[in-house]
Amino acid sequence: MRQIDGYTKTCGLIGNPVEHTMSPVIHNTLAEKEGRNLVYVPFYVGRGHIKAAIEGAYALNIYGLNVTVPYKSEVIEHLAEIDEMAEKIGAVNTLVRTQKGYKGYNTDMMGLYRAMCSEGIRLEGEDIILLGAGGAARAVAFMCVLRGVKKVYVLNRTLDKAKQMASEVNRILETDCVKPMRIEDYGKLPGGKKYLAIQATSVGLYPNIEDAVIEDRAFYEMLHTGFDLIYKPAKTKFMSLVKAAGGQAFHGLKMLLYQGIIAYELWNAISVKEEDALIVYEKMKAAMGIEES
Ligand code: NAP
Repeated sequence: MRQIDGYTKTCGLIGNPVEHTMSPVIHNTLAEKEGRNLVYVPFYVGRGHIKAAIEGAYALNIYGLNVTVPYKSEVIEHLAEIDEMAEKIGAVNTLVRTQKGYKGYNTDMMGLYRAMCSEGIRLEGEDIILLGAGGAARAVAFMCVLRGVKKVYVLNRTLDKAKQMASEVNRILETDCVKPMRIEDYGKLPGGKKYLAIQATSVGLYPNIEDAVIEDRAFYEMLHTGFDLIYKPAKTKFMSLVKAAGGQAFHGLKMLLYQGIIAYELWNAISVKEEDALIVYEKMKAAMGIEES
């Protein structure tokens, strides 16, 4: 049992809902492992209370915060400062306490990159199929361009959203490599090569575990790798379809792990050792009842 005393630093998560979050497992495991006097707790924030929540957290000397759905964009106007890349992405998931207020960062993007590196996935020179054009997909598109991919084909149900996202990323990063498409037009993708697909829609998320945003085997035969941002379930229908067509498939739990690790590093100005990150990952899998090596 950890000692809570007058010196204990408090970090937490603000969002709605927060009941099923895995973030306390990440941060409390790291704090215990390091012998750091820090606790991490989820804070439910009701609609319309985000400003009060940020001001209250600052007044209560809350050391650092994560921000989740639905406040990743809404929180920005209540910050003292914002990291340049988080500002470009237009979403913040980590707040670091400063003398003037909180500074906002986006660790989702770097979390995905570190997750991919740890799985041996390279982005440089790749042709990417990005499924979805929501908040997570936007961060993924930035990350892909910044990591030197050749092309990002954004396939979305609502074409206008894909167009808007592609034109914003292209404009901000001064490129033209992000191409919007209707999701049903995957047959028009350039042939003669294999793609890395990143699944960033919410289709297939628990409890709708039998759904995949594309079912056609011909699509999956175009992929060498499929990376699903969803981690609940740990084996999505998308992943099963990728594997059935001969590709390698990954779920999003490591992305969740590393976005948390990077937040913890920002709060405490340290680097977390890879072996400690993997200890945390085992705890997360155990908490979710995932059995895999
Ligand atoms: P979002 O902003 O709500 O975007 C949802 C996306 O899914 C949109 O592109 C939407 O298309 C598409 N979509 C939803 N229902 C669809 C359907 N029936 N058919 C086709 N497309 C559909 O959500 P988000 O925040 O980007 O999150 C997306 C996913 O990423 C979620 O499953 C979330 O759990 C996961 N995620 C994981 C991590 C991690 O750490 N592993 C972090 C962030 C997010 P339209 O534009 O046409 O509506």
